[in-house]
Parts: sequence; C-alpha cells; structure tokens
Amino acid sequence: MTLSFGRHYLAIPGPSVMPDRVLRAMHRAGPNIYEGALVEMMPTLTDDLKAIARTRHNVAIYISNGHGAWEAALSNVLAPGDTVLSLCTGRFGHGWTEMAEALGVQVQIDDFGMRAPVDPDRVESALQADPDHRIRAVLLTHVDTSTSIKNDVAAVRAAMDAAGHPALLMVDCIASMGCDRFEMDAWGVDVAITASQKGLMVPPGVAFVFFSDKAARVRAEITRVSRYWDWTDRANPDLFYQYFGGTAPTHHLYGVREALDMIAEEGGMEAVWARHALLARAIWAAFDCWSDRGPVELNVANPAHRSCAVTSVHIGAPHGTALRRWTEEKLGVTLGIGLGMQSEDDPNADGFFRLGHMGHVNAPMVMGALSSIQAGMTALKIPHGAGALEVAAQLIAEA
Ligand SMILES: *Cc1c(COP(=O)(O)O)cnc(C)c1O
Repeated sequence: MTLSFGRHYLAIPGPSVMPDRVLRAMHRAGPNIYEGALVEMMPTLTDDLKAIARTRHNVAIYISNGHGAWEAALSNVLAPGDTVLSLCTGRFGHGWTEMAEALGVQVQIDDFGMRAPVDPDRVESALQADPDHRIRAVLLTHVDTSTSIKNDVAAVRAAMDAAGHPALLMVDCIASMGCDRFEMDAWGVDVAITASQKGLMVPPGVAFVFFSDKAARVRAEITRVSRYWDWTDRANPDLFYQYFGGTAPTHHLYGVREALDMIAEEGGMEAVWARHALLARAIWAAFDCWSDRGPVELNVANPAHRSCAVTSVHIGAPHGTALRRWTEEKLGVTLGIGLGMQSEDDPNADGFFRLGHMGHVNAPMVMGALSSIQAGMTALKIPHGAGALEVAAQLIAEA
C-alpha cells in the first residue's frame, strides 16, 4: 500500500522546501526592468540581505547557483599564480578548491577528514610557516553539506590574527546562511558567499557574494577580473542592469523579497537561528536513541560541531539507499543521498543518507521526517533503538 498521496516532502539539504508565499510572489507577469517597483525594491533587498549575513559592507548578486558564487568570489581577489590555504571538512571544500585550481591558483590543502571540524591550531601553524605571506586567502566552508560538520569561523579568524597573517578569510555559507548563526563582520570574515536555494528558501538561480572593504581593496589591485564576475559595479551600480551584469533575474528577486519578509516576520535572524537549533536538537535526540541499537550513527559525534541545517548519517550498506527508496516511494518523503562519504569498504555510498532541515521547516515537518525514517527502518528490519519519537516530541514540547 502506498501512503504517498498528499504533499510530497523534499527533505534533502538543498534545494530546500520553497514556501507557497515565495512561489506565489514569483507567479506574476514580467515587470518593467527600467523603472518602477522592481527598480525601487533593490535597495531594500540589498539592505536586508546584508542583515542576513550580519554585515555592513558590500553585496554582489549573481544569476547563478552556488558554484557561480564560488567562482565569482575567487575571481575578484585572486590572480593566477596566487596561493590559497584551503581548509576541507568534506566534499564542498574540495569542490571550491578544485575551482580555484582551475583558475590557475596554487592550492595548499589542509584536510581535516570527514568527521571533525577545522583545527584552528593547525591553521595558525600553516600561516606561521608562510612568513612571506604568499597565501592570499584562507578558504573555509562554514557548514559542509556532505558531512554536516559546522566549523568555528571566529576561531579560524582568531588563528589568522594570532599568526599575524594578512590573508583574506573567505567563507562558503551556502548551506548555513539563514540556518546556523553566522556573523560576517563580528567574526572578521572578508568574503562570504551563499545561494538562494537553501536557508533562503528560493528556487536555485541567484547567488550572493558579500565582501568587506578590505576585500574590495584587494580586488582593486587585481589587474584582470572577468567582466561578468567582477563585483565592483554589481555592488555599487549607477544603473539598474549593473546589479546583474545584464537583465535582472526578475522573478527570483520577488521570491527573495518575499523570503526576506518571512524572515523578518518570524522575528529576524535570532528567531530563525533559534528555530533551526531547536529542531536540530530534536533530530539529534531521535538519532541518539536509534543509535542505541543497530547500525545508525550520526556522522559528527560532538553536537557543538554539528550544523543545524543538515544531518549526515551512517547506517551501513545497503540500508542508506534502501531507506531512501522506501521513504520516497511509500511515503513521499525524499531523503538526501550520502555525498562524498564513501570509504574503501563501502564504495557505493549505500550506507549513508542525509536529512535536510534548512529554511522553511517546522516542527511537524521534522516530526514527520523522523517518523518516516523510523517507519522505514521498521519495514526494512534495520535494527534501531526505541523511544526516538518520544524524546524528539519532548524537546519540542519544552520549547
Ligand atoms: C549546495 C552547496 C554548494 C553548491 O551550490 P550549487 O548551487 O549546487 O552550485 C556549495 N557549497 C555548499 C556548502 C553547499 O551546501
């Protein structure tokens, strides 16, 4: 018997659930792109985006996905032959690194594995070993979406300061922005990037690069920046089209406007972060119960190192794939695949799955996802500990 009729739930870590309000805001006739409401809306959009990133500095908008934001950020502050220190805690750090390499940048990788965050002491040592300051930037992924590791951005900045190193701190916040606390200015971040389709609840298609005045000065020294990726005019346009280097992503802008309004109505970033944190605790508590018996195990042992946006789970092959198929086909709940988690004894990533809980997610959605996972483990005879749904409900009751 199938129980999937009803609203399908895409519980993957991006693209995330799109609010009906966002979709309705986008569903309209094309606006005038030369004057009027859309043009007048832009300053409110950039102001509110900066508030999301907790910065008073600059934002450039791109018609792109997160990969475009990766390339845009790198293109503005690095020239071929420059060196970066790339701190990797999962698949996404390596992806950004590969993009830097493709742009002719020399890459020094420090890989912290798939289950632990960046160790700031190692960052400090690496920078101390660079007395000539060849390293121009440190690349860090705030939340790695494959492993669900959350890195301590402020601690990395402190390590850079302790080493007295002038490199830029560049942070990938694509998974974390709007979910996990992030304070660009207070944490001394020079470049922060995100995209529309995760914590910001808008379909994929626009990306944002926030940059400090220090990063802007570095940009000014670079002689050749790809015209399209150049953030200078986008952040300080004289004419409306310069925000986008061409035609505006008209409907996405209405979607972003609506999503920012929803964040404000909820009570701003503190409220949004608190919701994500509580729901994540309920999820972790459920997994802790399931882990008491059988193969289920959270990828990140220390709660302080876990993201509130996504949870990566080990469940052993072939259970990960079997569970995803079961919840999708029987119940209409799509869980995320294991990404970059393969080890030599498990080459097919069948032993992992991920649960996305970013953006437009409330308690019944989380309880529904957890119940669906438990039903799937029961149906598939995957052993698991008891009491998971009760502890999750208890945490929600206490909130
Ligand atoms: C999703 C994601 C990306 C890639 O974004 P795309 O829109 O798929 O290009 C990069 N980094 C992180 C941390 C992500 O979560």
